[in-house]
Amino acid sequence: VFGSIFNFQRYSIHDGPGIRSTVFLSGCPLRCAWCCNPEAFTAGERFSYQVETREILAWLREDRPYFRNSDGGVTLSGGEPLVQLDFAISILRGCRKTGIGTALETCGEVDWDRFQAVDGFVDHYLFDIKHTVNHLHKRYTGQGNQRIFENLGMLSRAGKQIYLRVPLIPGCNLSRSFAEGVGRLARKISAREVHLLPYHRLGELKYRSLKVSYPFAGRKDLLSYDYGRSAIRKFSEQVRQYFPRVVSGG
Ligand code: SF4
Repeated sequence: VFGSIFNFQRYSIHDGPGIRSTVFLSGCPLRCAWCCNPEAFTAGERFSYQVETREILAWLREDRPYFRNSDGGVTLSGGEPLVQLDFAISILRGCRKTGIGTALETCGEVDWDRFQAVDGFVDHYLFDIKHTVNHLHKRYTGQGNQRIFENLGMLSRAGKQIYLRVPLIPGCNLSRSFAEGVGRLARKISAREVHLLPYHRLGELKYRSLKVSYPFAGRKDLLSYDYGRSAIRKFSEQVRQYFPRVVSGG
């Protein structure tokens, strides 16, 4: 199967358990204002390239010693990997056949039948949570969160291993009410861990080269490292009131 990716990253320790190789698939149904991967927005255009499943599986086979010694494996990320469903299934199925562990990072904004289609091929779900308030989710990502939470609930009831991934964006979701919402949610769905992902603006240059305007351009307040560090520590403590396993950085 051919598919479109915009990056392949080896030796990742922040994309699931152990040492992982992360495949970034193009295409995403959301448009998060802070997105650091704007090249993910569309599949099959500039900044992404076509590869065949067998090429990716060959790359992953080279990494098997790292996976074996760390309980790692492949992580499909993006973008939203379930946008290219057949491609995602073919990679995951190939990994299953060769004993490579699998994780899927998802924004959750896809039909449930796409999750069902990969059922049985995914060991861990890294499920992004951007806002618990529907209209604010829509303001910052372009879509409401109803389907996202429905899918999360169904994965949880199916007993899946779920890591909640929470980007922390000053002025958008870095608040006590969101922290408490994340903690309660993690407890309710019996999450493995909550990963807090501090905002960074490493993607800003990409917007310029794509000639797309960066929604946070000019937000000087986002640059203060000290502000970020203390606010994230506070957010983490607020989540821990409800759920203990919180990791900063994923
Ligand atoms: S879900 Fe991820 S890839 Fe998609 S727009 Fe949001 S941050 Fe970017």
